Amino acid sequence: MTTDAAAKGIESLVRREILNLKRYVTARQESAFVRMNANELPWPSQIDSATVPLNRYPEIRPQKLQEALADYYSVPLKCLLATRGSSEAIDLLIRAFCQAGHDSIVVTPPTFSMYRVYADIQGAETLSAPLQAGSDFELDVSALLATCTPRTKLIFICSPNNPTGHVTPAEQILEIARARRGKSIVVVDEAYAEFSEDASLLSSVDEFDNIVVLRTLSKALALAGARCGAVVGAASLIGWLDAMLAPYALATPVIDSVLRALTVENLRTSRDALAHIVQERERLRDALASQPQVAHIWRSQTNFLLVRFRNLEHVVGQLRARRILVRDFPGDPQLAECARITVGSQEENDLLIAALRDGGKVG
Ligand code: PMP
Repeated sequence: MTTDAAAKGIESLVRREILNLKRYVTARQESAFVRMNANELPWPSQIDSATVPLNRYPEIRPQKLQEALADYYSVPLKCLLATRGSSEAIDLLIRAFCQAGHDSIVVTPPTFSMYRVYADIQGAETLSAPLQAGSDFELDVSALLATCTPRTKLIFICSPNNPTGHVTPAEQILEIARARRGKSIVVVDEAYAEFSEDASLLSSVDEFDNIVVLRTLSKALALAGARCGAVVGAASLIGWLDAMLAPYALATPVIDSVLRALTVENLRTSRDALAHIVQERERLRDALASQPQVAHIWRSQTNFLLVRFRNLEHVVGQLRARRILVRDFPGDPQLAECARITVGSQEENDLLIAALRDGGKVG
């Protein structure tokens, strides 16, 4: 894993305030002691039905959960931080590296729009290196590098990308990381990695101190409601984010559910469910391809399909009449007439196909 000497490069990128942050000192938590140091009530609430009672604060940083996640992603413990969804990791990274009114991030639209939102909140500029629509939304590495300025601290690459569904080849991401070493951190958002056959960038964190990988349990592990994700990067960078993250960030029931989801047996079940979604994705794709309203469907390595319709407004109306919601992108010229359709259960997918076939007649 990255040595401290190698991490010197990224030390020059982090905001001074974060580097020098004096972290909040929490009340000590020692299991064999009576806890009279954290202003908790000594008994559970009458409404408490949680496995672990909720009257006590959770662990400051849940060690077993961190270990289980590090195991699941096959990365060293010191290189991973569990966060409230990967959304929180995006926010932490932008606050850690971008000085308001000075620094910028680079995004590759069409892509996940929260990068820009968090940058706006922090007062960081968002620069765009658009994906190439004419070539299945491939990344233009030279154009991206030309978009970066000396103040670009973070480059967000979502792979597989939301909403296009395609994977950016690892070699392109490494090329960017090499070119921007000592200048920018490349954040690889792998929220949908489990649905893809392509290799993850997790192992590159070993070699590149300026690559950070984001993962989430919201997608393939079916735990969106638990709000748990992970950020994986150089140990020093993880330490800075750790100092910023609220103490007791993960709630007791969340820790409990995630630990259960990560047992060998439950992971096996999740893998079977995943295979089923991938199979349904391809079935849905074939069924949609034969619909006259469909102009184009992009190949996807996720649990959704990006579809261009001949008349999106009409299709959205057809689907609404059958109480089906899909995601459209009003005001985004790159995604005109496009909808992102999440792969549902077999029954849900059949409903969607039938709604399109029947022209949305309320049956
Ligand atoms: N990254 C991408 C690409 C996403 O699509 C999403 C959720 N839509 C997230 C991150 C955030 O997910 P979460 O906060 O649930 O982990």
